[in-house]
Amino acid sequence: MNVLVINAGSSSLKFQLLDVDTREVYAKGNCERIGIDGSFVGYESCVADGKQTLEVDLPDHKTAVKHVFDIVKATGKDFVGIGHRVVQGGWYFPESKVVTDESLGWVREVAPLAPLHNYAEADVIQICRELFPEIGNVIVADTSFHYNIPERAWRYALPRDVVDKLHIRKYGAHGTSHRYIWRATKEFLGDDVHKLVSCHLGSGASLAGITDGKDMDTTMGLTPLDGLIMGTRCGTIDPATVVYLQREGGYSVDDVDTMMNKQSGLLALSAISSDSRDIEQAADNGDEFCAMAIEMFAYRTAQLIMEMAQANEGMDTIAFSAGIGENSARMRAEVIKKLAWMGVCIDDEKNAVRSDEVRDISGANSSVRVLVVPTNEEYMIALDVAELLG
Ligand code: AMP
Repeated sequence: MNVLVINAGSSSLKFQLLDVDTREVYAKGNCERIGIDGSFVGYESCVADGKQTLEVDLPDHKTAVKHVFDIVKATGKDFVGIGHRVVQGGWYFPESKVVTDESLGWVREVAPLAPLHNYAEADVIQICRELFPEIGNVIVADTSFHYNIPERAWRYALPRDVVDKLHIRKYGAHGTSHRYIWRATKEFLGDDVHKLVSCHLGSGASLAGITDGKDMDTTMGLTPLDGLIMGTRCGTIDPATVVYLQREGGYSVDDVDTMMNKQSGLLALSAISSDSRDIEQAADNGDEFCAMAIEMFAYRTAQLIMEMAQANEGMDTIAFSAGIGENSARMRAEVIKKLAWMGVCIDDEKNAVRSDEVRDISGANSSVRVLVVPTNEEYMIALDVAELLG
């Protein structure tokens, strides 16, 4: 059964056409620089040789969606529906839902919690409905997996009337990825996994504590700014810093928002790049800022692994995933080194292996199993679509 998965951003639109039974991908790509000069569609398809680039004008998302459908149509594969990744599901999406006027309205209603993403996503869903009314659409929110974490984990210690009025709570993000990481870990370990700490370490980064498939806590909060240090996001800091920057530093609300989301994190620490590859290379060449950026990222990750272990009241498995978690043997080693006091260790040779498969990199006698689990959010979204529309 084939499904088209769409992940729309404010100026980009990623897509993938895949078979949920065989996991075969028939077409995938990205429409980039939508509404900006120099737009193009980069893609691969089962009916084209290698990577393709269409240098086309993409003035809006509607034009991008039309190109995606041309590419998908050329594969000759039918599909049962379209799965849309939605960053913020708010209080309406404890699970994935078929698109109706009502559910699409909810995506817009909660958009103030993720304005850069939700409005574009809602627009693209509406475009798909108008262009192809015969095809069903499904909303898969990144927050769903976290919605039913225990109240002690999601509630903020702010006045009740305020949090009720403004729907303030921990929503988390990367839920679809954490859900996949649990599934893949369970497939790999069977009955040997019960208490997993899932580490999605990419340019955005979050952890989840998962017990027998149920999410117990996660490190992102009301928005994806909380928790770990990220590529350009500061992660957890004293909340009073926000007020202090405005009162004493003279920064506006928008300045602080931009600073914390786009100018902080690894970029600010290293003073050269948000990309961990650049940072690792510079650290090797003696750059002290970069060495400290790696140290801080690893320290915070290890600290938050322990927080998630507490949410699980135990930990038998740690899984590393996403860009840094899957590819940086060095960062994995730095994180695990910090947990040596509790008997966690990895095997350096196994850690150095590169592969697209789930792999066990635990050291002999490690108190906790350590895995690398390549994430696959598109597959998880496609599974939901198959279940709801198949
Ligand atoms: P993602 O958001 O999951 O695409 O992850 C992006 C992050 O993964 C960036 O910080 C990249 O630098 C990082 N990354 C990708 N490949 C590697 C690698 N081989 N070594 C270190 N970091 C990597």
